[in-house]
Amino acid sequence: MTADHAAATQSSHTPVALVTGASRGIGAATARLLAARGYAVCVNYRNNRDAADAVVSDIRAAGGKAVAVAGDVSQEQAVLALFDATEQALGPVTALVNNVGVLFTQSPLVDMSLDRFSTVMTTNVTSCFLCCREALRRMHEGGAIVNVSSLAARTGSPNEYVDYAASKGAMDTLTKGLAVEAAPRGIRVNAVRPGFIRTGIHADGGEPGRVERLAPAIPLKRGGEPEEVAEAIAWLLSPAASYVTGALIDVAGGR
Ligand code: NAP
Repeated sequence: MTADHAAATQSSHTPVALVTGASRGIGAATARLLAARGYAVCVNYRNNRDAADAVVSDIRAAGGKAVAVAGDVSQEQAVLALFDATEQALGPVTALVNNVGVLFTQSPLVDMSLDRFSTVMTTNVTSCFLCCREALRRMHEGGAIVNVSSLAARTGSPNEYVDYAASKGAMDTLTKGLAVEAAPRGIRVNAVRPGFIRTGIHADGGEPGRVERLAPAIPLKRGGEPEEVAEAIAWLLSPAASYVTGALIDVAGGR
């Protein structure tokens, strides 16, 4: 039996997933799917308590187990508190999904402020580092981590979000290196790279209809749904992916 299978079997009583930024979008879809697959789920969020509570209510109504925990995962103390709260409510984390990611109004790099660049890096990359570190410190019998990167890591998002794309490139590299570091402990580390997915993030970039505008250029001729990304994440976390680590899986309709 592999370490991953051992972890999954041992925790088959209570596999515990921590999903960052799970109040909306891809994180919320992932929390719902993982709960349906038998995980107790921590639904992390930053501000939107009502949305996080709605995800938890849905999971509980379907017979699952979940708690909502507020915390800005770009902050070290908040991450420590988040893992403590999850452990207290549900047990030790066996599966981590680093889903938090932000972007700001589309802009060429020459017009970006240092403050914006730093915020994107801290929110997207530092949060991933902090949560991975905490998970590795606390996972003692294997486990799995999925980082939610982006197709932007490949394209660079010129004239729109070079800062965001660079943060996702950093997540990909962190995924590769950490996968090798963690492998001897039976901890798998992978990433998904979504393409254009129908969530509220595009409004933050100043173009709520971005997915529809770009759909004709996507080989599958449509944007993706958060649930389609969640499926890839759930598979990577599961024992079915027991020989997969350090992988970057595009969920981007062929882009
Ligand atoms: P979204 O709909 O904008 O949701 C963002 C989530 O992150 C919300 O739950 C938000 O919480 C939370 N959040 C933001 N900053 C946080 C922080 N510092 N600490 C804790 N929670 C925080 O985003 P999404 O589109 O689902 O994107 C999820 C991930 O997929 C991101 O990493 C994004 O880069 C990546 N991605 C998305 C697409 C796409 O087309 N949608 C494509 C490629 C990659 P509140 O509700 O409390 O604000």
